[in-house]
Amino acid sequence: MIDSIMQRLGVAESLYRGGDYAVMSPTDGREIGRVHLENGEQVAARIARAQHAFEAWRQVPAPRRGELVRLFGEQLRQHKEDLGALVTLECGKILQEGLGEVQEMIDICDLAVGQSRQLYGLTIASERPGHHMRESWHPLGPVGLITAFNFPVAPWAWNAALALVCGNSLVWKPSEKTPLCALACQSLLERAMAEFGDEAPADLSQVVIGDREAGERLVDDPRIPLISATGSTRMGREVAPRVAARFGRSILELGGNNAMILAPSADLDMAVRAILFSAVGTAGQRCTTLRRLIVHESVRDEVVERLKKAYAGVSIGNPMDGHLIGPLIDAQAYDQMQSVLDSARQQGAKVFGGERQLADRYPDGFYVSPAIVEVDSQNALVKNETFAPILYVLGYRDFAEAVALNNDVPQGLSSCVFSTDVREAEAFISDLGSDCGIANVNIGPSGAEIGGAFGGEKETGGGRESGSDVWKSYMRRQTNTVNYSRELPLAQGIKFD
Ligand code: NAD
Repeated sequence: MIDSIMQRLGVAESLYRGGDYAVMSPTDGREIGRVHLENGEQVAARIARAQHAFEAWRQVPAPRRGELVRLFGEQLRQHKEDLGALVTLECGKILQEGLGEVQEMIDICDLAVGQSRQLYGLTIASERPGHHMRESWHPLGPVGLITAFNFPVAPWAWNAALALVCGNSLVWKPSEKTPLCALACQSLLERAMAEFGDEAPADLSQVVIGDREAGERLVDDPRIPLISATGSTRMGREVAPRVAARFGRSILELGGNNAMILAPSADLDMAVRAILFSAVGTAGQRCTTLRRLIVHESVRDEVVERLKKAYAGVSIGNPMDGHLIGPLIDAQAYDQMQSVLDSARQQGAKVFGGERQLADRYPDGFYVSPAIVEVDSQNALVKNETFAPILYVLGYRDFAEAVALNNDVPQGLSSCVFSTDVREAEAFISDLGSDCGIANVNIGPSGAEIGGAFGGEKETGGGRESGSDVWKSYMRRQTNTVNYSRELPLAQGIKFD
């Protein structure tokens, strides 16, 4: 199956076979490709080519650059099924979510095409007569992208579509766990470039297949003015100071520890459905996965019972076969989950679920039933992001206490409240409410749309990607003052003669 998908996506066999690094499908642990890992010199050569491509691309008018992104969006529309299936095969999320990821790519292309005609600056009132002031936005340079395994295509596209219309070239180092998806995206972009014509320089977009060392080469290279890195907080802790040391910019999209406050006035049917999707979808491997349920004591027992029933009914299995929960990415993720559940038990927490599933059928695939862990307090275990389907349940009595619990973790990505009390809902998204980058009302914490800025505070890294005015991160801001008079007045009325 992999060969026919790769063929339709236009990826040459030599790129994904015969290399020294095996790529496994988490669906059954079988090898689906062998890629060549690039060494430091190869990465440096790619950066040099990206620099060269940038110098040509920034001369192409922005709306024309938008046309390339439009053509790329068309490629994605045509190949949505294949790319979605590849996402499923390589990272294990169910087909619906694989297709959803490709849809996000299409959506950001549409947004970026419109944006390509709206790279607006301001005009500013000058304090001096005969002077104009304005703010203009210029292309930045080659943008370095580092991405995580769990969203192998969409976050690249969020960055790439905007960076391209802003006049930048791209160097992408995908997760070493999902290089085939990256090769496929590159191939579709190259097809769009071929259709676009000569104005798009050949090295406009490049993929570096490599591990963290390849990522480090990108991070340290002063020719890359912006690094956009998606992954764990551990990775961000390493990347951020290195980029800062050379005064580069970074967009960091790191770990989350997302909560829902479930108030007694909430529509419980809706809330239970939202919890199910956001806590067990993608087998708990979304940065926005619901990890903490902060539920009012008056409805706690009822909600936990309903959740246990819903959890027991959810189908777990090969994500290509229409199940709702696919596998964890690998054995290490499984071991990590088990070790956290063991610790929770030792600490006296009540653990429901979490067992390995389908081990006979898939000895090298790591399927688990999602876990619910009832805890008395928000201890160190709860404050840590475990990248697996573990939902901690905490009770509360007073709404202010619930908001304090929501905020009392090191991460600040996503959050939500389920309540029909307008005071609670508004308080949650007020200055005194959730401290996260995303705060929702009567919607789970996951499944964001591309129109808004996506990202989070504190250990989530502070980065924003996707919609709103995020395009500005991919450009250089310049303040211009033009004197069209015959005098030379100085600012602040300073006399210098
Ligand atoms: P990871 O941190 O292990 O790897 C992410 C990427 O960083 C990979 O490409 C890896 O090779 C690279 N990398 C690792 N160390 C590096 C270093 N020192 N220098 C340069 N590159 C380095 O993360 P993962 O396991 O692939 O993904 C899961 C994590 O990503 C979770 O913590 C999840 O919350 C987070 N995530 C965050 C978002 C978001 O938007 N906030 C989105 C998806 C995933």
